[in-house]
Amino acid sequence: MEMGAENKVGTIKPEGEIYTCPTCGYTDGFHVSFSALKNNRKAEVFLICPNCHNRFRLGWHVDLSNT
Ligand SMILES: [Zn+2]
Repeated sequence: MEMGAENKVGTIKPEGEIYTCPTCGYTDGFHVSFSALKNNRKAEVFLICPNCHNRFRLGWHVDLSNT
């Protein structure tokens, strides 16, 4: 799965407990991946369905610095 295919990334509204894939209905949670943002030390978090392999973004960002 190649990162950067923005048109194939779905969205999930970040509320409640997030464990169900809106595409296929898989209910055992997601894999997690990170896409580093340009020119800073943050990355966006993507959730990947282990069943249908669709990717989802929730607008979550993490700080990659270790200081
Ligand atoms: Zn799925």
